[in-house]
Amino acid sequence: MDAGELKCWFQCVRGCEERYSVFEVIYHCPKCGGLLEVRHDLDALRALHTAEEWKQLFDARTRTNEWPYGSGVWGKKEWVCPEVRNENVVSMYEGHTNLFWAQRLGQQIGVEDLWVKLCGNSHTGSFKDLGMTVLVSVVKQMIADGAPIRAVACASTGDTSAALAAYCAAAGIQSIVFLPKDKVSAAQLIQPIANGAMVLALDTDFDGCMSIVKEVTKDNTIYLANSMNSLRIEGQKTVGIEIVQQFDWEVPDWIIIPVGNLGNISALGKGLLLMKELGLIDKLPRLVAAQSAQANPFYLSYLTGFKSFVPIKAQKTLASAIQIGNPVSYEKAVKVMQAFDGIVEQATEDELADAAARADLTGMYACPHTGVALAVLFKLVERGIIRSHDRVVVISTAHGLKFTNFKIGYHEGTLPGVNALRRNPPIELPPDVDAVKETIARELERRGM
Ligand SMILES: *Cc1c(COP(=O)(O)O)cnc(C)c1O
Ligand SMILES: [Zn+2]
Repeated sequence: MDAGELKCWFQCVRGCEERYSVFEVIYHCPKCGGLLEVRHDLDALRALHTAEEWKQLFDARTRTNEWPYGSGVWGKKEWVCPEVRNENVVSMYEGHTNLFWAQRLGQQIGVEDLWVKLCGNSHTGSFKDLGMTVLVSVVKQMIADGAPIRAVACASTGDTSAALAAYCAAAGIQSIVFLPKDKVSAAQLIQPIANGAMVLALDTDFDGCMSIVKEVTKDNTIYLANSMNSLRIEGQKTVGIEIVQQFDWEVPDWIIIPVGNLGNISALGKGLLLMKELGLIDKLPRLVAAQSAQANPFYLSYLTGFKSFVPIKAQKTLASAIQIGNPVSYEKAVKVMQAFDGIVEQATEDELADAAARADLTGMYACPHTGVALAVLFKLVERGIIRSHDRVVVISTAHGLKFTNFKIGYHEGTLPGVNALRRNPPIELPPDVDAVKETIARELERRGM
């Protein structure tokens, strides 16, 4: 068995048997309408390497300069999309993001072994890079092989469009992004503009953009880049594998992740399950999906034991990237929650803002979505569900620098629904030494120093 002969294909998540090429323009099962997922030939992967050999191979490739294997995604190419030829890979060295040891925050809440996976420390500032590198590489290969694709399109709450625009610009492919007008941050809006995307700001919400992009991409020359396209899931699934790798192949007890469209939690679960099937690990972590209370259809479904699911109209939330009422990957996510003994919990605006501010005071710079996950962590610790000796990983999905208005609003005390107890506004003073000294003395005292 040679790595060059490995195969992967699209197949229906609901179990229909037909297989479709990953280079075909197809997003749903033609038989039943279910989502597709990328499947791999597990026997071939087992025949190629033992579990121990896979670990050694992945470790040896980490952060090397051997194209494209230094990337956290392409370092696991055989498990992700082996059929992409290296000359078509569009990579920005995504993945291998820092696993931040949140020592001080952990001490404050009584969890010693607390880690934050900083997925926002990436080319476009969010985990979306992990998936987009795979999708845009496949499109590049399709175009190279003669497919009549004119553009790649997505609806976005901000970060997907930033990633799509950057990877397309690097590949010389036109991108089209649909954004809900006035519902993404300034940084998220300017990113695709700068990268030459066709930016369409629609007077609706994410779910409204999604239904329009679905219509537009019925024209097969405009390729759909939303996470119902499971190529993105293949790249995003490396995050769980990478976390385990960063602990020298030990599985943590808990992974907490903020969720909206439910693609990323599906990906996280898929990667971990693949590791288990190939014998790299023999247990699974428990997963916690964290939602904003303003956009909580998954939480509401969880309360029914996933017996019922009702799409909702998502309300405005500071965690704008997860303001989604009708998540596309619901079915995949439910399966993952069942396999990982999962929990879904929610956080209010006040809770998420306070959690982010608290994390920042221990050296982080948390985006509002990371705030949602941290707030949920605090609740589960208080309830005794997460215990003091558990190893816990919180997935930080974007960089705080993308959400400057959130940070400014917090410290100005102007965020609606938020009691900004940890505000730290600048102190304005005349340029006078005595006044400055007096203020420093007073402030140090107030801060208990
Ligand atoms: C996209 C995104 C999420 C949610 O991921 P889903 O796959 O939609 O569940 C969370 N946080 C940030 C910052 C994101 O950009
Ligand atoms: Zn089907």
